[in-house]
Amino acid sequence: MKSIKEIYPSFATPKKIVITMHQKPDPDAMGSSLGLYHFLKQFGHTIQVISPTNWADFLKWMPGCENVLDFENPKDREKVDAALKSAEWVFCLDYNTLSRTRHMAGMLKSLKATKILIDHHQQPEVTEFQYGISSTAKSSTCEMVYDVIVESGHDEKINLEVAQCLYAGVMGDTGSFRFSSTTDSVHHMIASLKKKGLEHTLIHEAVYDNFLENRLRFIGHVLLNRLQVFYESNTAMISIPWKDLVKYDIKTGDTEGLVNYPLSIQGIKLAALIIDRNEEIKLSFRSKGNFDVNTFARKYFDGGGHFNAAGGRSTESLEATVQRFINAIKENQSLLQ
Ligand code: 5GP
Ligand code: MN
Repeated sequence: MKSIKEIYPSFATPKKIVITMHQKPDPDAMGSSLGLYHFLKQFGHTIQVISPTNWADFLKWMPGCENVLDFENPKDREKVDAALKSAEWVFCLDYNTLSRTRHMAGMLKSLKATKILIDHHQQPEVTEFQYGISSTAKSSTCEMVYDVIVESGHDEKINLEVAQCLYAGVMGDTGSFRFSSTTDSVHHMIASLKKKGLEHTLIHEAVYDNFLENRLRFIGHVLLNRLQVFYESNTAMISIPWKDLVKYDIKTGDTEGLVNYPLSIQGIKLAALIIDRNEEIKLSFRSKGNFDVNTFARKYFDGGGHFNAAGGRSTESLEATVQRFINAIKENQSLLQ
């Protein structure tokens, strides 16, 4: 993978571009994709943003979101195929391996287009991308898109739309500027977005204060009935059967952030959220301090991510997956002290 700097001079030449993100996009994946979209649009490129799957309602306020295609939606299929087949550049944002694009991965792999990675996850599959930038030191992909815009000399192209999209992703991935990834550069970036007229309160409300009543009642239910604490391993876990998702009418995005509740218990170093999504079991891990959940997720659950935030999956039953998790934390007990 060559440096992304090598493509900066070509920004000015109009091209057919596709921008992709990871499945079930979060504010960083959708925000970086749309932020880059609003930036590149100003050069006269033809651009299509594609998500591998559907996305949460709390992302729908983002400018440009209404034109994003869903790879899994049959009604978008024709447009998706046409855009991918004719693309000269394909940007790959906020994922480190093509498998994070789920059913879109095979299609992406077979494309002749130049693939450009912008990502902050560990161990990127660099051979899949011709150009790019990958840095685990960065708070978010949105911060990296901001860096690309500034470094390529186009600061003046950061308009309000770019600012709103990029702000959302940095806010999401830093836990609202709380995690250790919130460097001085992050605060400088936000200061410059504020100077462009960004009203950050509106964005926080659009993402975090925009749920339906059922989601709050669902959280009450799982905290009361689905939480288990393993004090000998400083671990807390929430496991959710499919029937709970059906009962409370839980939609994509409604479980976002739930994994942080168990981490708020005094002394807990590892939190896990295990959800039976019917088609597969999805796992989320968060840790405090020196327990590396990226390695843990890779070793036991076919996943990965960052040092303190990672995810994985399982094709076993919920019960078997929970048991595998309990065995895994026993094996790691000494690292969790
Ligand atoms: P979340 O728990 O919010 O789904 O994900 C936490 C972090 O781990 C995110 O940065 C996400 O991109 C990454 N992640 C989640 N699931 C997987 C997975 O199955 N494989 C890999 N490689 N990364 C994942
Ligand atoms: Mn991210």
